[in-house]
Amino acid sequence: MAFEGLSERLQKTFSKLRGKGKVTEADVREMMREVRLALLEADVNFDVTKTFIKTVRERAIGSEVLDSLTPAQQVIKIVNEELTKIMGSQAVLLNKADKIPTIVMMVGLQGAGKTTSAGKLARYLKEEQKARPLFIAADVYRPAAIEQLKTIGQQLDVPVYDEGTQHNPVDIVQNGLQKAADDKNDYVLIDTAGRLEIDDQLMDELSQIKAIAHPKEILLVVDSMTGQAATHVAEGFNERLDITGVILTKLDGDTRGGAALSIRSVTGKPIKFIGSGEKLDALEVFHPDRMANRILG
Ligand code: GDP
Repeated sequence: MAFEGLSERLQKTFSKLRGKGKVTEADVREMMREVRLALLEADVNFDVTKTFIKTVRERAIGSEVLDSLTPAQQVIKIVNEELTKIMGSQAVLLNKADKIPTIVMMVGLQGAGKTTSAGKLARYLKEEQKARPLFIAADVYRPAAIEQLKTIGQQLDVPVYDEGTQHNPVDIVQNGLQKAADDKNDYVLIDTAGRLEIDDQLMDELSQIKAIAHPKEILLVVDSMTGQAATHVAEGFNERLDITGVILTKLDGDTRGGAALSIRSVTGKPIKFIGSGEKLDALEVFHPDRMANRILG
């Protein structure tokens, strides 16, 4: 389960305070050293950790805690509020275009869960908004990706526009958008190619697709299991494509969770959804406050 290590360490740290009737400044400083280590060990970005610790320490050393009759609860409340804040405070919903279709471009490295997340999103839109999405299969480098999308399309009864692997992805997207206009689909989900790492060729292709499709959303799909790398990937994609949000996948695994806590602060872009399983219903809107509660147990 995600965050297990972090949760345990934080709970242990706070339990030391619980026994105390009065908390001193030295107690707070000692505790914050432990919280700092716990965050770094959970793969939270170094700068994010540093700022977080400074903010919490300053608030906790303020009179509200030191004079309190329930200092442990006060500290936990501050940690909870600041964790929520670094994750963006509020849930951020999907952007919607003024007129149909809303175009969503799914981007990410290979294996992050892009195609699966496109499927989850289509299911979500159908359930929540009675939407009629169309997929465009623009990952022409991996025939298996197109087949995977078609299988998902069949399961969900969502049409897939594809031209196999022999055509240029930019042309495929152009033609797919025409098809969506003809069929009056309200959402278009473009499944783009991924690579094992960020490279110029991939980014150029994604930029070209962005330029012709004018997506209302560019959702970066990142694998939470990759730790610090997930945050670097988010930075890289954001610099090149100015993404609008993130889907953080595989939070059902034993990820240490650092990406969930770092991505918003590092990129300024919200995590909009989290993936919590391989099935198509395993997608949740990301709520920073609920995530903070989950971490603090
Ligand atoms: P893509 O290369 O980015 O399109 O990645 P895929 O969508 O093919 O996903 C790669 C693997 O990750 C597949 O085996 C998926 O079933 C799995 N996967 C995707 N999202 C999740 C998730 O949230 N949790 C788990 N446990 N597995 C996931």
